[in-house]
Amino acid sequence: MAETENRPTNFIRQIIDKDLASGLHQQVKTRFPPEPNGYLHIGHAKSICLNFGIAEDYQGTCNLRFDDTNPAKEDISFVNSIKQDVHWLGFEWSGEARYSSNYFDRLHGFAIELIEKGLAYVDFSTHDEMRELRGTLTEPGTNSPYRDTDVETNLQAFAKMAKGEYQEGQCSLRAKIDMSSPFMCMRDPVIYRVKFAHHHQTKDKWCIYPMYDFTHCISDAIEGITHSLCTLEFQDNRRLYDWVIDNITIDARPRQYEFSRLNLEYTVLSKRRLIQLVDEGHVSGWDDPRMPTIAGLRRRGYTPGAVKEFCKRIGVTKMDNLVEMGMLEACIRDDLNANAPRAMAVLEPVKIIIENVSDDHTETLQAPNHPNDESMGKREITFSREVWIEAEDFREEANKKFKRLVLGKEVRLRNAYVIKAERVEKDDAGNVTAIYCTYDADTLGKDPADGRKVKGVIHWVDAKTAIPAQFRLYDRLFEVPNPAAEENFVDAINNDSLVTKQGYVERSLATASVEDGNWQFERTGYFCCDKDSSDEQRVFNQTVGLRDTWAKIENK
Ligand code: ATP
Ligand code: MG
Repeated sequence: MAETENRPTNFIRQIIDKDLASGLHQQVKTRFPPEPNGYLHIGHAKSICLNFGIAEDYQGTCNLRFDDTNPAKEDISFVNSIKQDVHWLGFEWSGEARYSSNYFDRLHGFAIELIEKGLAYVDFSTHDEMRELRGTLTEPGTNSPYRDTDVETNLQAFAKMAKGEYQEGQCSLRAKIDMSSPFMCMRDPVIYRVKFAHHHQTKDKWCIYPMYDFTHCISDAIEGITHSLCTLEFQDNRRLYDWVIDNITIDARPRQYEFSRLNLEYTVLSKRRLIQLVDEGHVSGWDDPRMPTIAGLRRRGYTPGAVKEFCKRIGVTKMDNLVEMGMLEACIRDDLNANAPRAMAVLEPVKIIIENVSDDHTETLQAPNHPNDESMGKREITFSREVWIEAEDFREEANKKFKRLVLGKEVRLRNAYVIKAERVEKDDAGNVTAIYCTYDADTLGKDPADGRKVKGVIHWVDAKTAIPAQFRLYDRLFEVPNPAAEENFVDAINNDSLVTKQGYVERSLATASVEDGNWQFERTGYFCCDKDSSDEQRVFNQTVGLRDTWAKIENK
């Protein structure tokens, strides 16, 4: 089947194939478990494509579960943005969205079960004392003086914790595992702590909250997740994941598998750092088109297809690496080259006055929407006495390599006529303010009759019908490939990551909107309309340039 051949293969899918073949599982159940404390980024897209992609390909299911055990940092606005982003990528979760907080009652019950089994105790050591006793990677830890408290006393203390009778930090519930384990996470980890915080789901019901390691595995078991996929930093924690499941009374036996997280050059993919960029105003918000967030990529003009293609190309392994930005850009460029209609825009305009066209003349011409795809149809553009061209497309003098407009020479206006530059007008500072030209009326859709060769073609916009536009050109957000490795990553921000230009677009884009998708502005790049557009002007974001300029920058 062609469909199967198209599927990616990776070590996780091999494990699933084996588990299905051996009959260990009849159906695959995965989950995507974001913490609602920020917007999703391209790294999350990797995890989303993996979890939802597996569910799709194996006719299984994938849950969306908000991992909401830290109310102080979470917010309902993040819950909503996460749902929107998963949908935008084209995935549908199984049933309602779930929350770890749905299971707080059962988690509380399992904590009591561990206490009753002598496998958990309330520790009144301070934070610092606990750290002292934890030991180091090379030295074992030391047992807490509270480690051997009897079951009854522990049950009473835990009940008091839940009633709010202790202060934050005064005590916590710890699993009783092994203070000399080579895995730090197994040295009697805290599984419940006191926190007087309002929770976006459970409101003020709880003043104790379970820790991630205790919550995640139990939530997986409750939901019947078969393969719990997470990133490599949780490799050691798998011991704790298994220990909790092995020591509570629950039927399901989920298994955790780890893969390497996505790191992308010239950006940061840690929520803590992304929050800092937003809070300190280094970017305009979570959806700033320079941000590696799904919301930022969407506003920049990335398509769900390009993001998914990127996730497919990078694959899923256990090897940590830093993926080149060019790889992400290649995906959107491939998509838009095939699918984006063409249009004309002038980003840095200089005026052309065609002296042998009368003032009141306006002509309607046809322009193909795609040079290689007739099915995309044609649009109308207008031509009259005054047109805008790019300032950089004109020179008073130039050698033969400059195939654009030169004084005394000819060039073709794309989809229109051949013009010849006759003379220029300049301001006091010597800047060209207008270029006076003549046109050859017998060159529409054909070469000049007398056999003159006109090699250059430039884009243009009719001044009479042009729509004012702002163009936002984006560069990498950071000056170094791995900003996370810097002492202070914000010092590595590229101050020229946003350049704004004021120009014009052709009349057909007068009502361009965010919903319209992208255009290729001929000879310039791929653009999409931004929500900042107003009645005064359209605003366009450059999604990506026509060619990969990254390699070039690298060698400078
Ligand atoms: P951060 O380190 O940015 O705060 P996180 O892991 O705390 O990320 P979560 O909301 O907990 O963020 O992530 C939800 C899921 O997405 C987890 O399973 C996590 O492993 C996965 N994930 C997060 N970042 C990446 C990444 N860069 N590459 C692949 N998967 C990721
Ligand atoms: Mg996390």
